[in-house]
Amino acid sequence: MVSSEWGTIVARCRRRPPGLDDLPADALTEGKRALVRVDFNVPLERGEGGTPPRVADDLRLRAALPTVERITQAGAKAVLMSHLGRPGGTPAPALSLRPVAKRFEELLGRPVHFCEETTGEEPEAVIEQLTGGSVVLLENTRFAPGEKSNDDDFAEALAALGDVFVGDAFGAAHRAHASTVGAARAMQRAGRPAAMGRLVERELEALGRLVEEPESPFVAVLGGAKVSDKLGVIERLLGVADRLLIGGAMSYTFMQAQGRPAGDSPVEDDRVADAERLLSEAGDRLLLPSDHLAAEGLDEGADYRPVEGSIPAGQMGVDIGPQTATRYQEAIRRAQTVAWNGPMGVVEQARFAEGTRAVAEAVKEATDDGAYTVAGGGDSAAALSEMGFADAVRHLSTGGGAMLQDR
Ligand code: ADP
Ligand code: MG
Repeated sequence: MVSSEWGTIVARCRRRPPGLDDLPADALTEGKRALVRVDFNVPLERGEGGTPPRVADDLRLRAALPTVERITQAGAKAVLMSHLGRPGGTPAPALSLRPVAKRFEELLGRPVHFCEETTGEEPEAVIEQLTGGSVVLLENTRFAPGEKSNDDDFAEALAALGDVFVGDAFGAAHRAHASTVGAARAMQRAGRPAAMGRLVERELEALGRLVEEPESPFVAVLGGAKVSDKLGVIERLLGVADRLLIGGAMSYTFMQAQGRPAGDSPVEDDRVADAERLLSEAGDRLLLPSDHLAAEGLDEGADYRPVEGSIPAGQMGVDIGPQTATRYQEAIRRAQTVAWNGPMGVVEQARFAEGTRAVAEAVKEATDDGAYTVAGGGDSAAALSEMGFADAVRHLSTGGGAMLQDR
């Protein structure tokens, strides 16, 4: 799971590329081929007794429907491409997109023509013979070694399958691979237009509202595993937020920077200097936990208890403490804008998920009171859905390893 995605996306969302409605009038007319980079990197369930694998979570497939509908209703052919898992540049039957084509066909309610090759004569012939409004899905782009290396020839071969490029793979948008960046560039070199799809447009709009004149007070909540993953987003948010509430494992690196002992908690030694710099830049806008849940380990039977101030040797911080949860809730309830990324503790274990739940409850109240609230990140989105808080925010961003494994 790549947690820096969200930061990259928030940082980038000021530059807004053209959308489908900004394309030249003849770009999507009858018979034109729209090459669409979607994010169909979905979790698969292994089939039993030789039956083919099944799509275990189709959120990303449903998220692609508006773009595909828009293209096909205009009369153009939608040629979809995506990666799935990590086949390592060589065909791996278990990671074929064929079962995904089947599920997408059910959701779309129309045929989806699957191509066993990603580039070359087979897809060219299939696309050629289809009528306007048809939908094609190419085989996993990562079956080709040129995908991850953003090889020019592979990018050109992909671009040859379209008259217009549409980027709609929000979760993969920050990766410079052949099917994301390479094909778009090749297409533009050939004088053909490129646009972002509906999903990317919706996400950029939602995240853009955070950095363009957000309503004050703007409270940003940042947690999760590492400072190093989030440096970009912390800096970006410091430029716009009135308060930055820090939780999760990254707080211990900040504690270290303040000279407060963090016991055996995970500290990123090579980021302590960054944390010091951020602390002095942010002044009292940056809030750190004043108490913690400290555990003797992460095993089932390990003892844990709330501690104030520093964390004793032999123990590690696993969640924000109850006082901190209350302080953070108060700040969030007063906010008109909230941006949240990263759980407050080891949220995978219910007993260490209370801090995250407290934040979710306050965010829900702020949303109900009319605040503009956005949460993003793979683990954060997973935790929110699991706790029944998926509707607690105005926008739940799929960015950051959307739903949810980047396998
Ligand atoms: P997101 O995917 O939402 O961006 P991250 O990937 O940055 O979030 O962080 C999520 C991970 O951080 C979770 O696996 C969680 O267990 C871990 N984490 C949070 N707090 C702690 C902590 N105190 N100690 C160890 N791991 C933590
Ligand atoms: Mg993550």
